[in-house]
Amino acid sequence: MVIVRNRKALGEAIRRLREEGKHIAFVPTMGALHTGHVSLITLGRKHADAVVASIFVNPTQFGPGEDYTRYPRTEEEDIAALRNAGASVAYLPAVEDMYPAGASTCVHVAGVSEGLCGAFRPGHFDGVATIVTKLFMQVQPDVAIFGEKDYQQLAVIRRLVSDLSIPVSIIGAPVMREANGLAMSSRNRYLSEAEQAIAPALYRQLKETARVLSLPECVVCMGGAIIEQAPHNNITHELGRMKAALLKAGFTRIDYVELCDAATLLPVTTLEAPARLLAAVHLGTTRLIDNIEVLP
Ligand code: AMP
Repeated sequence: MVIVRNRKALGEAIRRLREEGKHIAFVPTMGALHTGHVSLITLGRKHADAVVASIFVNPTQFGPGEDYTRYPRTEEEDIAALRNAGASVAYLPAVEDMYPAGASTCVHVAGVSEGLCGAFRPGHFDGVATIVTKLFMQVQPDVAIFGEKDYQQLAVIRRLVSDLSIPVSIIGAPVMREANGLAMSSRNRYLSEAEQAIAPALYRQLKETARVLSLPECVVCMGGAIIEQAPHNNITHELGRMKAALLKAGFTRIDYVELCDAATLLPVTTLEAPARLLAAVHLGTTRLIDNIEVLP
């Protein structure tokens, strides 16, 4: 595995791969790598001949008061993890290289970036769309792998690539979880022991709510005639129940629990097409996000 730290060295590494006729998969990360990240590299290797992975804690996607300065930085372990996973190139650019002095251009993906996390983290998806656009231009991959763990981010990237006709195929990878169901995240290491005991309740609640929402409507018949079609899977009621259960489980604050169309991420009031149940919650100073598929 080649380790490159600036655009020039990256360009040379990419040129060598292209000269060898290799198709390239790209996996952008912010480091503090875990099994979820490794699964993206593994998937990348299935879709291409070589994987380029980047590690860059992108300052523009953190809001004021968020965890940019304390975000875990574990470069040595990350490089070992990328090497073990079979990446061909590890790209670790410096902030000054990605954002030259005076940089004032940003990529804004309207619509899909605005609800959910976008409403609670203003500017976050502008930062994501900008850095991913820059990385795509530098790496020029054939495919790029993003985790469904950050489901809204994946939807934003799909929109971005389609709108700007960026010649890359976007592949979504399933959420990797701990044995207790907690979605793996670099931020899980912020959790205290007590918080670690509470955190798995998020996925338990997502699963339970998804199960109830997918139940067929309760139809009451009398003498062959439908006298009542009671939606016992009332969406608003179920989302309210889930929020109450999360607070009871010990989560300290809820940003959102929403059922959205799986493609547009617009809120869903009746379950007629594939949907996604998404949640963002706080446990002390740590913000956790997770989501699950809900099929009609
Ligand atoms: P991050 O380092 O948090 O920016 O994440 C880099 C990539 O890894 C993103 O595409 C994430 O969606 C993905 N990712 C993070 N956690 C997981 C997970 N538990 N399972 C699958 N993919 C993940």
